[in-house]
Amino acid sequence: MISSSYIELSKSALRKNIRFLKHQIGPDVKLSSVVKANAYGHGIETFVPLAEQCGVDHFSVFSAEEAVRVYDSRKKNSDIMITGCVDNEALEWAVEHGVAFYIFNLERLKDALRFAKKMDTVARIHLELETGLNRTGMTNALLSQAVEIINKNPDRIRLEGVCTHLAGAESIANYKRILDQLDSFREQCRELQELGLDIGLRHTAASAATLTYPQSRMDMVRVGIAQYGFWPTNETKMQFILEHQKGSPEKRFSDPLKRVLTWKSHIMNLKKVQPGEFVGYGTSYQTMKRQTVAAVPIGYFHGFRRSLSNLGRVLINGHRVSVIGNVNMNMLMVNVTELKNPQVGDEVVIIGKQQRSQITISSFSDMSNLLNYEALVRLPQEIPRVVVA
Ligand SMILES: *Cc1c(COP(=O)(O)O)cnc(C)c1O
Repeated sequence: MISSSYIELSKSALRKNIRFLKHQIGPDVKLSSVVKANAYGHGIETFVPLAEQCGVDHFSVFSAEEAVRVYDSRKKNSDIMITGCVDNEALEWAVEHGVAFYIFNLERLKDALRFAKKMDTVARIHLELETGLNRTGMTNALLSQAVEIINKNPDRIRLEGVCTHLAGAESIANYKRILDQLDSFREQCRELQELGLDIGLRHTAASAATLTYPQSRMDMVRVGIAQYGFWPTNETKMQFILEHQKGSPEKRFSDPLKRVLTWKSHIMNLKKVQPGEFVGYGTSYQTMKRQTVAAVPIGYFHGFRRSLSNLGRVLINGHRVSVIGNVNMNMLMVNVTELKNPQVGDEVVIIGKQQRSQITISSFSDMSNLLNYEALVRLPQEIPRVVVA
């Protein structure tokens, strides 16, 4: 490996997660794999073909740039849907390439119609309804104008779905708000159908709702974080486990989601340091005895946050060892004094499992004060992604 670190994606873990999710939603609900933000740090170019091998045939992204990357890396003819940003030339590209996108204002709908005519094709759209998130959904007045345009241009605009986004299904504090949103969504769907519209796929659920609000699944779910093996929150995990898993405590609390990602590096150098010496920049770490210090070529440039100075942990030879001193731009130091026979080149796991030890993304993100989501998507795009069995 030329790179100072790399990210492994486990095919067996992803396969299990997809199987688990499909089992939850049943055969009549479509699974859309959400791969925005560089597939939550997993790397679009590596993740998309891998997901296709595991049975995924529909991908959701936030922006047209991401859609282009999915388009170029898919190996099958998987569907692509843009839920957010797609303007001007990007919209023209999407229409031309049969990529579906959300409609949440009339300007975009009119542009889509214009491009579909120009390219002599049909624009594939999903109408985003306002149900209470108050971010980008369309309200009634807009909606009826949109319906008029759609009805007038059946050969240019294909309504493939109607959708909404829920305002925090991962926390029970939002329970009432979520139920109200689902009510509002169903009501609006009914009204659209009463206008004679074929509304296509109804979809509202992301990971948390998919796993804890079965009534939100409807015709399709848009699953991001769970397919990568992470729970949106601990609350969602506990709620799911208490409702669905029975048997011995081991069975009951076993995690049905498997982490797909492991971030690895290696020991770059080893040295003995005498007692009373400072390690690294400044005086934040002083040896109390003779210690062995390993240098690992990972720093805040690579996403190992400086706030983990003297706090972070990594795995070497199956043991959890401590980061000592300040995290540098390209390097960090680890106290390996207690390890039996550390060698230059030994594997260092920053996130993931090694032998029987594990550093979870949540411990990594807790330590650095980030959401799971945020810690994942901050993994730099430059780190090579490789698939392992
Ligand atoms: C990000 C996103 C999702 C996926 O959310 P997860 O909590 O990661 O499953 C679903 N739908 C939309 C519109 C999103 O932006």
